[in-house]
Amino acid sequence: MTQYVYMFSDGDKDQKDLLGGKGANLAEMVKLGLPVPPGFTISTDACRAYLSEGKVPPEVRVEVTRRLREVEDHIDRTLGDSEEPLLLSVRSGAKFSMPGMMETVLNVGLNDDTVHALADFAGDERFAWDSYRRLIQMFGKTVLDIDSELFSEALDARKSEAGVTSDVELDVEQLRTLVKEYKAIVEDATGKPFPQTPRKQLDMAIEAVFRSWNTERAMLYRRRERIPDDLGTAVNVQAMVFGNLGETSGTGVCFTRDPSSGHSGVYGDYLPNAQGEDVVAGIRNTLALSDLKERDRDAYRELRSAMRRLETHYRDLCDIEFTIERGKLWMLQTRVGKRTAAAAFRVATQLVDEQLITMDEALERVTGEQLTNLLFPQFDKDAVRQLLATGMGASPGAAVGAVAFDNASATAKAAEGVDVVLVRRETSPEDLPGMIAAQGVLTARGGKTSHAAVVARGMGMCAVVGAEDLQIDVAKKTITVGETVVSEGDVISIDGKTGQIYLGAVDVIDSPVMTYIADGLEAAQAKAEDDDTRELVAAVDRLLQHADARRRLRVRTNADTGEDAQRARDRGAEGIGLCRTEHQFLGERREYIERVILAEDDEARASVMAELLPLQRADFVELLTVMDGLPATIRLIDPPLHEFLPDLTELTVKVELAKARGEEGPELERDKVLLEAVRATHEQNPMLGLRGVRLGLKYPGLFALQIRAIAEAVVELRGQGKDPQPEIMVPLIGSRRELHLVREQGLEILQEVGEAAGMTLDLPIGCMIELPRAALTAERIAHEADFFSFGTNDLTQTTWGFSRDDVETEFFTTYMENGVLAVSPFETLDGIGVGELVRQGVAGGRKTKPSLKTGVCGEHGGDPESIHFFHEVGLDYVSCSPFRVPVARLEAGRAAA
Ligand code: ADP
Ligand code: MG
Ligand code: MG
Repeated sequence: MTQYVYMFSDGDKDQKDLLGGKGANLAEMVKLGLPVPPGFTISTDACRAYLSEGKVPPEVRVEVTRRLREVEDHIDRTLGDSEEPLLLSVRSGAKFSMPGMMETVLNVGLNDDTVHALADFAGDERFAWDSYRRLIQMFGKTVLDIDSELFSEALDARKSEAGVTSDVELDVEQLRTLVKEYKAIVEDATGKPFPQTPRKQLDMAIEAVFRSWNTERAMLYRRRERIPDDLGTAVNVQAMVFGNLGETSGTGVCFTRDPSSGHSGVYGDYLPNAQGEDVVAGIRNTLALSDLKERDRDAYRELRSAMRRLETHYRDLCDIEFTIERGKLWMLQTRVGKRTAAAAFRVATQLVDEQLITMDEALERVTGEQLTNLLFPQFDKDAVRQLLATGMGASPGAAVGAVAFDNASATAKAAEGVDVVLVRRETSPEDLPGMIAAQGVLTARGGKTSHAAVVARGMGMCAVVGAEDLQIDVAKKTITVGETVVSEGDVISIDGKTGQIYLGAVDVIDSPVMTYIADGLEAAQAKAEDDDTRELVAAVDRLLQHADARRRLRVRTNADTGEDAQRARDRGAEGIGLCRTEHQFLGERREYIERVILAEDDEARASVMAELLPLQRADFVELLTVMDGLPATIRLIDPPLHEFLPDLTELTVKVELAKARGEEGPELERDKVLLEAVRATHEQNPMLGLRGVRLGLKYPGLFALQIRAIAEAVVELRGQGKDPQPEIMVPLIGSRRELHLVREQGLEILQEVGEAAGMTLDLPIGCMIELPRAALTAERIAHEADFFSFGTNDLTQTTWGFSRDDVETEFFTTYMENGVLAVSPFETLDGIGVGELVRQGVAGGRKTKPSLKTGVCGEHGGDPESIHFFHEVGLDYVSCSPFRVPVARLEAGRAAA
């Protein structure tokens, strides 16, 4: 038979699944011999049984009775006893800490009878009645679901009648009256009197904790944090200790190190003569922990020693909740404490230096997400600034720009080279062009899963959302905040981390960690303004170096230009995983593609290609020079033709207008021919149309040109004594035959160019795996491929049937709110779906060629969670944007450590 209830003395910190975080850590403290009021934990098994059966299983009640006896024996007090009553706290505690669930009920066991006993036993009548009114208030709110306002109003009324401002000033009589009023509120709201039987109070509180697992707020929180719904929560039942027994009592919270800097020392707050939530509720001003030293040296010393004990034991920064009852210290909670990104890096290396953890463990203590946070540009903290309002930081970064209220003005200003911040009440899919043009986006409505927030995070752009103080008048093009009016074109600055909005331009600087990444440790140390920063940069350096030594995955970058490639190489990229060649045909060179398409015969086409050849060769020479000695995967031209041609509608209008005006001449004639071609190549679904290898097979000269340019670039660079290592990659392969055709043609060109130069050009030719069919037939395709690169953007698009260009803007927010998606599959790889195709693709390919090189290009290559997946399926490398290279290095190291 399952055991449902465990004494604190039976568990330990590794049993979070069963006992929840709070229960497991209480048990651990008991094991360490720290002073913890006795109690027991009702397990998550019991919660799951409750959730599936709709009632608390009778066995749980029986076990609670038994465990309760043990507690009663232990401290020699009995629940409901009319002389020495035991009082209990009932505390929820899931595996992951979770706001939105039922909080704590203190003082369970008090009723009209035991309140007198408590008064006698404590020798303090006021205290007893204060505890009783707290019980009714907490029980009413969290167990009986009564609007807490009703209680606060009654309390306020009492206070004003007594002419006092703080509840500690209410006397016994006033508290007695308040209890009466509270009981009336309960009876009014529920139709039943406040339960007087202590055991009934306990059972109701336990059930309320279980029930609260499925409140709307809790469910929403779990979806956002990707916490499974079926974990359930545990319930901790514990003997009460009292911080509200006068000036020698009190309650507090503390950290073993400063959670924002990582410095070790004494950090915490203490509130004398108070109970539980008074500290956080900010009812009275708290004292610093050092004041406790003055008030009660012994208790302070004991607390300090418990803090040291816990930190050495957990080998990490801990936070602690404690209560002092008439000079006696009681530990009520501990856990590994949350910390800022900077503190995470510092604490991890400090603990290594203190020989508490190894470098591998230190690597586990920091995340790529934290590193990303440290890389974003920041506002110069010394810059003058004027706060306009504060919203929610939804996507980090710092943006400065002229206010624009719509797409048209945002794109127009951006085209003039003016930085823009797009300001909307809320954004919708139509705002995408404006967002792309802007440096940052600011909305007055919506939360962290609003459209603006989701899209901005996907694009890596700075966003502040839900700044409700902004009155946005789109028609008048103004933002009003109180007296201040901001008009279109006025400059504002927004901080995507803190949500702060400033008037005017605030200076933006590189973060110290970014300086380190770009310019190295020495430069960053020299520029650092204080020791904390120097320490941070050194910590990042140590951990990144360790990650580099540890990781199996190589980290390459996506780079199309020499400049990008150089930036990535500086940040530790070990090659290029994806060079998109299409941008080399945009801008001025677009007309060449037009001419290829318009060419009347092969000869005409060949002559355009001949003109293009030296231009392409120069592109590759530049790129391969920067990447000298490292592999560089060059993808042959991929996008559909229409991206190189004028827009069908615009061109039609242009031609018709010219005709109507009776214009003639070579330009019009050319436009007419072009229009024919545009019509002929027009597709309903270009992303599923003539693109990638299909384009290459239809216009064989295109791929041939590119392959020749690559080959000639190699010859040229080898001539200079360099070591170029291009890899030729064919996009959108779906069948072995497609790749075979391109490969044959490619090998021929390589041989020809090689022979002419008197050298062997055995450049690898491989393909993207970005269609489900390619992944499924990888075993066959591998016969023709020297390497695979998983194009997980397209693979996600084609596996889900989501159009990447539309979907993130259309219904992803809905999908996230109703739980179909926890995160955009374009951000984090959908491991069980798309990931399965990657797995099969790798397995298939390696069946044919055991040492086939495999990698991934696309956004997922820089996403922490996805990187762990790629490590696990055995890829050789990930490729990501230059900005993400350090993050990928860190995460690849963490995956291997
Ligand atoms: P949370 O998860 O919100 O921190 P807790 O269960 O830790 O909730 O309870 C909040 C506070 O209630 C504690 O910090 C402590 O001050 C008080 N509390 C809880 N249990 C007891 C107890 N047995 N005796 C005295 N105070 C308690
Ligand atoms: Mg707590
Ligand atoms: Mg693709």
